[in-house]
Amino acid sequence: MPKMRSKADLPSKTCASCGRPFSWRKKWEKTWAEVRYCSDACRTGSRDAARAKQSNTA
Ligand SMILES: [Zn+2]
Repeated sequence: MPKMRSKADLPSKTCASCGRPFSWRKKWEKTWAEVRYCSDACRTGSRDAARAKQSNTA
């Protein structure tokens, strides 16, 4: 059985918008060097967008 890679091993950055730390994600495997924001909402600079997204999932 292969040894599981722990989350602590993943690289992390600080979001340039909200200032919170975030960890590497699979979707960023090709663009990690350019990633500056933890989410699309932070990337577009809109907190309201993040809220709208959440309420839409319900
Ligand atoms: Zn952020």
